[in-house]
Amino acid sequence: MKTIMVDMDDVLTSGKFEEYLEEFLGEKKDIQSDTSYYRQKFIKGREQEFIEQFQFRNLYEDAPLFDGCFEVLQKLNQSYDIYIVTSYIWKEDIFDAAENLKNKFRYLQSQLPFIPPQKYIFMENKNMIPFDIKIDDRMKNLENASQKLLFTSWSNKEVSTQELQKNNITRVNNWYDIEKLLLEQ
Ligand SMILES: [Mg+2]
Repeated sequence: MKTIMVDMDDVLTSGKFEEYLEEFLGEKKDIQSDTSYYRQKFIKGREQEFIEQFQFRNLYEDAPLFDGCFEVLQKLNQSYDIYIVTSYIWKEDIFDAAENLKNKFRYLQSQLPFIPPQKYIFMENKNMIPFDIKIDDRMKNLENASQKLLFTSWSNKEVSTQELQKNNITRVNNWYDIEKLLLEQ
């Protein structure tokens, strides 16, 4: 059975960072159309203030899964060995890592009950573990896999087709693209 690594943030759900950011800044922010690598830049210079207000807030409370995510993962789970691999440490610890780890665990348990906790991997450097297939929104996390699927998100919209080809990466825009690639061929 082939193994699949599935990233959590911006692949399963976008969480609530955007909402918290808007609450903090007191204005609407179109961060989905911003292409910078780290969204933390929006609070630059005010990190301490942000930490005081938000470090223990739950980034996943009531956050919906992306369209099709539940159904497609459930189908994939019949013929692939699926692992959720996710980092829980934010730069400068603007969300408390221990709290974030717990919130991620609870979210995965409640939203994807068919994937047991034994198949959660919480780690920073995802390149260390080889998988047959990797699905992530960050190119660097796709290394060490035979099949690499880049899940379209704000951080990778500007990656060109040539760059993807050069690195042997296929872009997927949503969970239905994943279904077509991994279940209908
Ligand atoms: Mg991600």
